[in-house]
Amino acid sequence: MSRFGPDYVRAIAPYQAGKPIAEVAREFGLDEANIVKLASNENPFGIPESSRQAMAAAAAELGRYPDANGFELKAALSARYDVPADWITLGNGSNDILEIAAHAFVQKGEAVVYSQYSFAVYALATQGVGGRAIVVPAREHGHDLDAMAAAIDADTRLVYVANPNNPTGTFIPAPEVERFLQKVPANVIVVLDEAYNEYLAPEHQFESAQWVRKYPNLIVSRTFSKAYGLAGLRVGFAIAQPEVTDLMNRIRQPFNVNSLAQAAAIAALNDKAFLEQGARNNAEGYRQLVAAFDELGLEYVPSFGNFVLVKVGEDEQAGARVNLALLRQGVIVRPVGNYGLPQWLRISIGLPHENATFVAALKKALG
Ligand SMILES: *Cc1c(COP(=O)(O)O)cnc(C)c1O
Repeated sequence: MSRFGPDYVRAIAPYQAGKPIAEVAREFGLDEANIVKLASNENPFGIPESSRQAMAAAAAELGRYPDANGFELKAALSARYDVPADWITLGNGSNDILEIAAHAFVQKGEAVVYSQYSFAVYALATQGVGGRAIVVPAREHGHDLDAMAAAIDADTRLVYVANPNNPTGTFIPAPEVERFLQKVPANVIVVLDEAYNEYLAPEHQFESAQWVRKYPNLIVSRTFSKAYGLAGLRVGFAIAQPEVTDLMNRIRQPFNVNSLAQAAAIAALNDKAFLEQGARNNAEGYRQLVAAFDELGLEYVPSFGNFVLVKVGEDEQAGARVNLALLRQGVIVRPVGNYGLPQWLRISIGLPHENATFVAALKKALG
């Protein structure tokens, strides 16, 4: 145990990222070309060609600092979401937004409410400021918003809600989210984390960005890492009223989103065809995976994201065991024992042949 730093920093369990392809190739003596990675909810089509071209053009100016204000990207987002540009905060990934919110609104000892089985970064952001976590038991692997509203105490400053949620894929319909927002005290900030929003079917989409007009304590968080295919560039953004946006702006690093990322994000935002192709592939891939789970008699959580949580055994080692058997066959998925789900694995939806490779390897792994 280190003698440095505060107790609450020493207590942090580091984030466990999906294994990189090169690392699995080295560890298991495999050819990188044959490895399938379905572990980090990345876009299986990779970066959009439009973003690649925008980055090539922006590369000439890399000797200069990025636009600290992100003028052009904010203008594009402002037009897309019909909110003023000074209601937008850019982040180095939406992970940055989640951290900025904790730093801007929570002091050591104050409380943050989030759900069991929700995104791991909520715990990290809370612990990073010495906050007290109030973890509310999940209901059917998803957020129990009534219980979360009831859990807000006098010391609570912030609530994180993931919709859809990662790693479980659960979704809360608009009327339920709005009922929750009406119940939350006006002095408590709600971060509505919609990292997978673009994957929702049209009937599930709602104008959360417009709710910000009604709720001065609401921050809507989005990312370019998932449906837009820019995970490696790190761009996300928040929409909130100016009072909240102004405070987040004081906390964020001045140059938190680099120039290539800003250029690529603008291009991706305007690339409707890329999003549509991704959504179509995702819907088909979801059907492909759950058909296999049904055939194998495996329980899964119905998902609204670009991944599925599946139960691969009854014992506490099932997830780790099946994960290892998959790795040996060159298939990388995400064990979720660190989320308290040791019998489950989270599978990101890939291209049809990647899903098929996974299914074949899973059948072998289960014997
Ligand atoms: C992936 C993810 C994010 C953040 O991703 P960034 O790459 O940092 O934008 C945020 N919330 C949830 C629920 C996620 O799954």
